Amino acid sequence: MPDQTALLEQDRKHLLHPLHHPTAHESPLIIESGRGVWLRTVDGKEYIDGLAGLWNVQVGHGNAELAGAAQQQMTQIAYSSNYVGTSNLPAIELANKLAGFAYPSLNTTFFASGGAEANESAFKTVRYYWKRKDKPDKVKIIARQRAYHGVTLAAMSATGMSPYWPMFEPRVPNFLHIPEPDPYRFTGEIKADETVGQAAARALEEAILREGPDTVGAFIAEPVQGAGGVIVPPDDYFPRVREICDQYEVLLIADEVITGFGRTGDWFALRRWGVQPDIMSFAKGITSGYLPLGGIQVSDDIHEVILSAPPDKRWMHAYTYSGHPTCCAVALKNLEILEREGLVERAAQMGERLLSGLQTLDEFPQVGNVRGLGLMCAVEFVADRETKAPAGIGEKVRLACMERGLFTRAVNDILVFAPPLIISEAEVDKILEIVRESIGAVTVA
Ligand code: PMP
Repeated sequence: MPDQTALLEQDRKHLLHPLHHPTAHESPLIIESGRGVWLRTVDGKEYIDGLAGLWNVQVGHGNAELAGAAQQQMTQIAYSSNYVGTSNLPAIELANKLAGFAYPSLNTTFFASGGAEANESAFKTVRYYWKRKDKPDKVKIIARQRAYHGVTLAAMSATGMSPYWPMFEPRVPNFLHIPEPDPYRFTGEIKADETVGQAAARALEEAILREGPDTVGAFIAEPVQGAGGVIVPPDDYFPRVREICDQYEVLLIADEVITGFGRTGDWFALRRWGVQPDIMSFAKGITSGYLPLGGIQVSDDIHEVILSAPPDKRWMHAYTYSGHPTCCAVALKNLEILEREGLVERAAQMGERLLSGLQTLDEFPQVGNVRGLGLMCAVEFVADRETKAPAGIGEKVRLACMERGLFTRAVNDILVFAPPLIISEAEVDKILEIVRESIGAVTVA
């Protein structure tokens, strides 16, 4: 067994972690391996991976087919640049596979390495598009509160969770935030006879009018807000958002970094509401987390604008690892597995089992709200169901779950669940059993 004390010492000395702070890293899990939905630490403890890595390990851990696809491709070539004038076989095959795959109007893909890079590409493409359309002032991006779009500077400025900002300010100008369509805690104004979905969509229209439609380039939205606490919008929200975007010539960017590739029980989440975006950013699910790969898909209209550029107005955007052959080969194999094993349908079925199980936790008065779509679920704790005041027990329940062998994440008082799509009925039931016991232990104590 590896010497855990020595590992920890080296980690503390030499490794900066995302969101680093020493107090949050006093007894970190050091993961050694994983099989299916299970994680194993260097000290031999086992946990159900209740977050599928970081919402991305669709096919589960230890998949030999994906490892084989990577090895096979690596023996062909180390790397080949995808800069204009060169291309490679897996990148062409994957772009071809993805053409019209998510939405009929999105037939062209630009590859990045992750979600933030994908969103940066989306924001730059929005600016590019409007400059080419002789509307160079349409540079503002409207996002939502509690949105997460990554933490590179522009993506961080689009992210609507304020704790990510202060120590890195000033933010990039021209990003603004409107209330999110949260049926449980909508913070905007609801007029008489208005639904939360209509009110939240009206907030978009009002922001566009306030800023001036000639200054707004795009609206970016996660179909289901993930890191903000699994916020599932009402059914009337996105259809109205699409109408508003059309009316004021504002591009709609769907950030499907979490929701893409099956997580919500649909291949892509906006489809559920019959809505097509102009740009979709994607990342996590496409390789099941086995390799870093993300990107954007753009509408035929945007593609045409890029293709018809005069030489001095080229779309001057690039990443070294855009279209990396090994990442694309693994993505192709991953899509084959998702399709062959019917894992998107499975996400819908297992999601229903998980959600209906979580709904039975309402025996605990601290359970204020249970929500989810597919295998993206959350339980929100409150001190009082009437006032919805915070219970302040999210982290305690999370730790109690860890003690019982379930790894997951708490966003303040919201405990989130997003296991791999291959999860079995028995494993869903195990999650439910652990959560019930953990809430019981925390609320009795
Ligand atoms: N968009 C969404 C919706 C995300 O959840 C995330 C990451 N959790 C990102 C973008 C950023 O992705 P990355 O961490 O790969 O930059």
